[in-house]
Amino acid sequence: MSLPEASTIWMDGALVPWQQAQVHVLTHGLHYGTGVLEGTRVFATADGPAVFRLTDHLLRLERSARMLRIDLPYSADELAKGTLDLVRTNGHRSCYLRHFAFLGYGSMGLDMRSSPVSTVIASWDWLSALDTEDESVRVKTSSWQRTGPNSVPNAAKATGPYLNSVLARREATDAGYDEALLLGPDGFVSECSAENVFAVRGGVLRTPPASAGALEGITQDTLLTLARDLGVEVRVENLLRSDLYAADEVFISGTAAGVVPVRSLDDRELPAAPGPLTVRLRELYRAAVSGAEPRYRGWLTPVD
Ligand code: PMP
Repeated sequence: MSLPEASTIWMDGALVPWQQAQVHVLTHGLHYGTGVLEGTRVFATADGPAVFRLTDHLLRLERSARMLRIDLPYSADELAKGTLDLVRTNGHRSCYLRHFAFLGYGSMGLDMRSSPVSTVIASWDWLSALDTEDESVRVKTSSWQRTGPNSVPNAAKATGPYLNSVLARREATDAGYDEALLLGPDGFVSECSAENVFAVRGGVLRTPPASAGALEGITQDTLLTLARDLGVEVRVENLLRSDLYAADEVFISGTAAGVVPVRSLDDRELPAAPGPLTVRLRELYRAAVSGAEPRYRGWLTPVD
């Protein structure tokens, strides 16, 4: 993915040219992963660009920061304003947004108290999370597992713990798969490296809870709402990998990925990819994010 070096970045309250948005090599977050982040999307709608669930993403950023004891210098309202300024300045019709806050240059060592917090919003046209040309993906259970609840707070979208996902994704792609499935320390299904996972069997939609080490995905929450609105029975409960092998349909979800059908898990082909419920949910999700379905317009923040 090439980055748009001609555009602008919001950095600590100011819009700065892309090339000037730089940090020192002794930035605390670079050494110790002390940062929190969000990935959010701007979609093209009939009324112009709109950010999908902006407040929910910014509130998750705030919760992540609280869990890591990082004091965000900006409120969610200020970050929302900065986001809209940035998208307008860069002239995007649709884009990916990366909000992040990290401990900067101040002191080295594990003590985090004397490093300043930097806050950044970047935007670019990257819209694909999975490096595949196919509509569906082949997934492999990883030899890496999600960290337990007393290692790092998995509910925080924090930079350091992403090493776990990066290692899992690398192992899966080296072995010729598209994505890795991570199990938690108890052996239950957690999530993929950057997506939540869903299984459908007998018309019932199931997805693991946060207590399985999964991020509380905003797309996951969106899809659960859409499924309930369609009258589908949904259950947020622990799943075994064999529940996925035995499913009628499996799909994964994330802001960057959208709704992606799983074709096989550990070389076991699923009966359908996409299956019928995956297709219905994906269509409704696309209608929600594009503003085509009036019922869900409240999730969209217009940029103009
Ligand atoms: N799990 C992980 C580990 C992720 O990085 C992401 C992407 N943010 C997700 C799940 C999906 O979350 P969301 O739908 O909020 O993008």
